[in-house]
Amino acid sequence: MTKELFQPLSGNAMPRFGGPATFMRLPACDLDAGLDVAFIGVPFDIGTSNRPGARLAPRQMRDESRMLRPYNMATRAAPFDCLRIADAGDVAINTFNLAKSIDIIERHYDRVLASGATPLTMGGDHTIVLPILRALHRRHGPVGLVHVDAHADINDEMFGEKIAHGTPFRRAVEEGLLDCKRVVQIGLRGTGYAADDFDWSRQQGFRVVQAEECWYRSLAPLMQEVAAQLGAGPVYISFDIDGLDPAFAPGTGTVEIGGLTVPQGLEIIRGCRGLDIVGGDLVEVSPPYDVTGNTALLGANLLFEMLCVLPGVKAR
Ligand code: MN
Ligand code: MN
Repeated sequence: MTKELFQPLSGNAMPRFGGPATFMRLPACDLDAGLDVAFIGVPFDIGTSNRPGARLAPRQMRDESRMLRPYNMATRAAPFDCLRIADAGDVAINTFNLAKSIDIIERHYDRVLASGATPLTMGGDHTIVLPILRALHRRHGPVGLVHVDAHADINDEMFGEKIAHGTPFRRAVEEGLLDCKRVVQIGLRGTGYAADDFDWSRQQGFRVVQAEECWYRSLAPLMQEVAAQLGAGPVYISFDIDGLDPAFAPGTGTVEIGGLTVPQGLEIIRGCRGLDIVGGDLVEVSPPYDVTGNTALLGANLLFEMLCVLPGVKAR
């Protein structure tokens, strides 16, 4: 028996400003619904160091996803013709307690992965990638990583704390969650606490592509090299919206100038096609600083692009 596939509610069946406020106006499903892909919100921003607001991003990205239609006109990807995809709701974090929230997220993703679904996550600040990677490690072992960000997020601590939105990849390395030779960080830039801040990443074996190496050029050739480096093993995509330039994505908490363009962001994700993508996230959108909604719109589109490169999605 073939399983029922879900389609986003069409703008010809219900005005786009009406209908369910789910991601892409998909059905809202529980984790026992036999999903291939689950869109999940993590309304968490108590790990952020500057401007807050990412707790509001899952709702805002759902709202701004209302214009997304089912087919990718550039790549011809047809995810909804191939996979059972729905909005699996939000993680019920404890907004008064960071440590408890991290545990809650980790246990939630254990359940997501046990259900067989590939998680695509609407953050939330970047702290949330740590519990997601812990759950992924239990299922897949160490994963490769495509990390887009203005920041390396490898601080040993922030204000004396080991878990915050600037530390997750340091903790992930310490805990053995990453296959360090299969990690690439793209878009890093700005000012540092020390001139060699990014060298810690390089010392772990990560490929670091600073923003200046990306200026004025297509990233398609870079992604061919990345795909060769990451090979056949499991890969996670973690996309911090501040990797893109604040001209395109001003609605975020820790803004750095001189960032990637929107087409470069698309090239990075589209360049992941063919890899064994086991999940992805779009983090650090902050709706209070997103007065036009364009940052959340961009985030929603980038999540759709991640959906389009998942294993099992065919092009028409
Ligand atoms: Mn980050
Ligand atoms: Mn960042």
